[in-house]
Amino acid sequence: MDQTVSTYANQKRVIMLLIDSLMYPPLEKAVKEGAAPAFQFFMENGKVFPNIVSPFPTMSVTVDSSLLTGTYADIHKIPGLVWFHEEEKRLINYGSHIRELIKLGLIRSLKDVIYHLNNHHLSKEIKTIHEEMSLQGKATASINALVYRGNTEHDLQLPRLLTFFPSWNKESKTNGSRLFTYGSFSRISPFKRNGHFWQKFGFNDRFSAQELKYLIETNSLPSFTIVYFPDMDKTVHKNGPMDIKGISKVDKQLQNILDCYDSWEEALKDHYWIIMGDNGQAPVGSDRNKALIDLRKSLRSYQIMALKDGVKDSDEVVLGVNERMAFIYTLNPERAPLPDIAQTLQKDDRIDVIAWMEKESIHVISGVRQGKLMFQPDGDLVDEYGQSWDLVGDAGVLNLTVKNHQIFYDEYPDALARLHSSLTSHRGNYLVASAKPGFEFIGEGSPTHVGGASHGGLHKQDSLVPMIVTGTDSSPKHLRIIDLKDWILTLID
Ligand SMILES: [Zn+2]
Repeated sequence: MDQTVSTYANQKRVIMLLIDSLMYPPLEKAVKEGAAPAFQFFMENGKVFPNIVSPFPTMSVTVDSSLLTGTYADIHKIPGLVWFHEEEKRLINYGSHIRELIKLGLIRSLKDVIYHLNNHHLSKEIKTIHEEMSLQGKATASINALVYRGNTEHDLQLPRLLTFFPSWNKESKTNGSRLFTYGSFSRISPFKRNGHFWQKFGFNDRFSAQELKYLIETNSLPSFTIVYFPDMDKTVHKNGPMDIKGISKVDKQLQNILDCYDSWEEALKDHYWIIMGDNGQAPVGSDRNKALIDLRKSLRSYQIMALKDGVKDSDEVVLGVNERMAFIYTLNPERAPLPDIAQTLQKDDRIDVIAWMEKESIHVISGVRQGKLMFQPDGDLVDEYGQSWDLVGDAGVLNLTVKNHQIFYDEYPDALARLHSSLTSHRGNYLVASAKPGFEFIGEGSPTHVGGASHGGLHKQDSLVPMIVTGTDSSPKHLRIIDLKDWILTLID
């Protein structure tokens, strides 16, 4: 640690604060009302990008993987929070709801999120920012991020309950960033405060801030530090997108961090601060019967896999529900063909995007908009991000505007690449569905957010997050989360 400090003493360091479900409209409101002085300070002393595009589905594990690798799920291979593993014939669930985890076998699910996510599922074909920097001899820190893969082996101090299971012993080691906090399972500081099991084993904002403060106060910040603040997700889910209570609460933690310095201005001197959200959230209506799209009802003509039984011979369909987005798998393309499932879903005007792949081509229909769009990469049309596409059919299905061989997005930012990446993110015969704002999908045991908000969808309400940057006038090549890794590496270089 000391070596790191002396080697890079004169270099500006990057501190990235990733705040779950931070959105621009409520942030702007909170600042106007004087409820977020730390955010206000950063915004007045930096550059504000209100609309950075998040990957699809807009779920934290997929977003974090994209942020760390600079790729969409077609490359990093973390398709969503919940997805079906074709080779292992089982539903992977990194933790959407404790009830669901118990049904699936709690231990297995904990293992998926604590161990397999980083050590098996996240593609080894691509390097994370931690791995990239470690190869350049630079240390990095990851505090409470769910995706953290790096080149340093760490022991996870698992709760006693888990170590009763013999299969865990070998796997209590994991490869993370040089400085690595993962709740109370791996800590940088010696402090146990805020890290107890009733405090979600340290996966909370106070613990995150406490670990970062320790790095600042001991003068051991490495070149790059990413700190994940999880708490606001829950507040926004409950109170809706315009809630500012969560923002003012996380602002207190930011104030605590700024207070480590002699003055707040001092905090800006040797650092680039990047403060951003990971996904947005869209409102969910308050009438339970309308707001929840129960896929077991919509697809009742098919035999759907039951969570606790796993795949049985007679099963035809598997549901991978990610709040406002769902993967729907067919186990038997003859009895349950994807185009038929898609047509069934299209009858529901609460579902605005339904997409699946046939050979190389992606087909898109909607329960809201007329027509059908087919597209594939490498054509004569170029979009806002310089990606080229071949489009056939009704561009209006994805609310696209095509003018002079150029494609412009509106309701669904970067829709073509995000849908394409999701439909090539893992093996299997599946379609993806995204709900209109106001609604969310449920399957067996799914969490619900009636009268609150939810995410996962392709819509811009789920997909746009703000980013505040201090210390530089440079900006990423495009305003998307996948474009941040390369830009951060240039800051440190
Ligand atoms: Zn959430």
